[in-house]
Amino acid sequence: MDAKQILSEVKTISAIELNLVVKTYLGSSEPAVKGISLSVDSGSIVTLLGPSGCGKTTTLRLIAGFERADSGEIKLAGKVVSDMSTWVPPERRGIGMVFQDYALFPHLNVRDNIGFGCKSHQRAERIREILALVDLTGLENRYPHELSGGQQQRVALGRALAPHPVVVLLDEPFSNLDADLRAQMRLEVKQIITAAGATAVLVTHDQRDALSISDQIVVMRDGRVEQIGSPRDVYQHPESRFVAMFVGDSNIIPGIIGPDTKSIETTLGLVPCNHTHDLPPGQPVYLSIRPESIELTSEGSVEGVVESLSYTGQSVDVKIRVDQGVNPALILLAHLHPEEKVQRGDKLHFRIMPDFVAVIREH
Ligand code: ATP
Repeated sequence: MDAKQILSEVKTISAIELNLVVKTYLGSSEPAVKGISLSVDSGSIVTLLGPSGCGKTTTLRLIAGFERADSGEIKLAGKVVSDMSTWVPPERRGIGMVFQDYALFPHLNVRDNIGFGCKSHQRAERIREILALVDLTGLENRYPHELSGGQQQRVALGRALAPHPVVVLLDEPFSNLDADLRAQMRLEVKQIITAAGATAVLVTHDQRDALSISDQIVVMRDGRVEQIGSPRDVYQHPESRFVAMFVGDSNIIPGIIGPDTKSIETTLGLVPCNHTHDLPPGQPVYLSIRPESIELTSEGSVEGVVESLSYTGQSVDVKIRVDQGVNPALILLAHLHPEEKVQRGDKLHFRIMPDFVAVIREH
């Protein structure tokens, strides 16, 4: 095999692979993780997203080796680290961890926290590199209690990246930060992980974290994978009502695929849809209509009444009650342009634009 072939082989090996992994905690009647399979490309950022108790942290702990699976296989960089006959302990898996509370060593300064896992012959140089990467040069003598929340998080990330791990695992890394800092740290953490060329798996229950930081999102529900895709895929083409409603806001209505398959017959009339699918005319489906696809018109189209509204700065979020020809009445959420002057009780007309309408097969 020549160098080029080796390189392409390395590129095709997933950093992490889980095959049908099951984990039941002692004393539990139901598995916390029910046969999960997924793979994470080298150099990508993957988020495990789902509601509390769906098994995200358990999956992360199985990858790290803090828990042992009952069955299934886990591979890191192409090597089996856990199956029925193989067990590689956490300290030999080449994992970097960033914990929710950062877990910095309080008695060590920034330099020594970052250098903790580095080999002695390259330690000083690696610390310098990482300090620059996480933008903490000049603060190396400070102790954790002398740092802001954002700076502590950068130390934790730097400490995890310093020993060149196969993969960095981050458990709810933004949950201790207030809203402004959270938004800023999402960008910084993404930038640092990308600049380091690292592979990262992040656990969150916050869809904004997942949408803004990830190359791929793994949406989990009740110990299973519900959908895997890019943030755009998962948002624009949710495959289930659960995903449509968990990732962003959505209006879910039943429908039937129309004769040309590009529009769907619903109680609101024919709804156009740009989502390609291979379902035949007449097939019952659900439609996910994102609030931003509802557009006010001067007349015609569908009529509704403003039931409630809230101004967010970026939009006016309006609940529109539609009861003309619709039984029972539908309440639709629309994100209107912030300049739209609407009031509670206003009668309005709207149409549905096709870009953020997705066909969901389940019925
Ligand atoms: P959260 O967002 O609340 O942290 P999660 O999606 O990370 O939730 P897990 O912490 O993986 O979910 O928990 C999955 C299930 O396993 C839950 O029902 C939880 O109660 C259970 N569980 C987690 N840890 C243990 C444990 N050590 N012993 C027994 N059951 C556990």
